[in-house]
Amino acid sequence: MNIYVLLKRTFDTEEKITINDARIEEEGAEFIINPYDEYAVEEAINLRDEHGGEVTVVTIGEEESEKQLRTALAMGADKAVLINTEDDLEDGDQYTTVKILEAFFEDKDVDLILAGNVAIDEASGQVGPRLAERLDIPYVTTITSITIDGETVQIERDVEGDVEKVDTSLPLLVTCQQGLNEPRYPSLPGIMKAKKKPLEELELDDLDLDEDDVEPKTKTVDIFLPPEKEAGKVLEGEIDDQVKELVSLLRNEAKVL
Ligand SMILES: Cc1cc2nc3c(=O)[nH]c(=O)nc-3n(C[C@H](O)[C@H](O)[C@H](O)COP(=O)(O)OP(=O)(O)OC[C@H]3O[C@@H](n4cnc5c(N)ncnc54)[C@H](O)[C@@H]3O)c2cc1C
Repeated sequence: MNIYVLLKRTFDTEEKITINDARIEEEGAEFIINPYDEYAVEEAINLRDEHGGEVTVVTIGEEESEKQLRTALAMGADKAVLINTEDDLEDGDQYTTVKILEAFFEDKDVDLILAGNVAIDEASGQVGPRLAERLDIPYVTTITSITIDGETVQIERDVEGDVEKVDTSLPLLVTCQQGLNEPRYPSLPGIMKAKKKPLEELELDDLDLDEDDVEPKTKTVDIFLPPEKEAGKVLEGEIDDQVKELVSLLRNEAKVL
């Protein structure tokens, strides 16, 4: 089976994030594989081990994304592709990303593409479904289980906590949800092997695209952190007095009564 994983290098949102001029400051930020894409890599490796074939991990990004691709190779993926837009593009949006991926997949013989359900930084959840539409293949989002038998695929997907069962067929694109599996940590031998695994680097030109073809259709106007939470107020004294004070605060300070 030809299995592809779409992998995005993202900010680690558990670390401190600084915003400057409507952009997250890269200096000092930590970068990781988008967590949902780790489920995708793990599932791809398991499916390859069960059915044979190979796993290729694809990222659109800059030179620094090589680190996350090497981690996926160390987990057990066979090949990696970095579509490096560093020299060609300054801005991009979901249209840009999908247009580039569409061109990449144009001459590929695909059985299964696994993406994350959502990227934790920009979180549009658009890339997987939009790519499947462009490739004219079926897609199923937020999957928590996948069983492949020949061309037939049985899927369980998370629907806000409920489970929906879907039958479909290959070729297929799925987006992965928490609960699908427990992603492995790369082993030391895996890390050593990963250094020798193929990592192909492509530019827009290699995909017969130029800047105008992938010009973004949207522009991020602003992004901002949520306001800092103020310390809570603890009321003291007799219960009757506390109730009176609470009502007064709700009426005069919070102005919700
Ligand atoms: C050339 C370029 C320049 C950009 N410039 C800017 C910018 O200036 N400002 C800005 O805010 N954003 C920029 N972006 C990022 C872009 O706006 C979105 O982050 C990107 O389109 C993905 O959307 P999302 O984060 O909402 O992903 P989602 O749709 O939420 O992601 C879902 C899944 O799609 C896959 N996926 C998403 N992105 C990629 C990727 N890059 N490579 C491989 N798989 C992926 C992953 O599997 C991911 O889990 C740029 C992107 C590109 C390609």
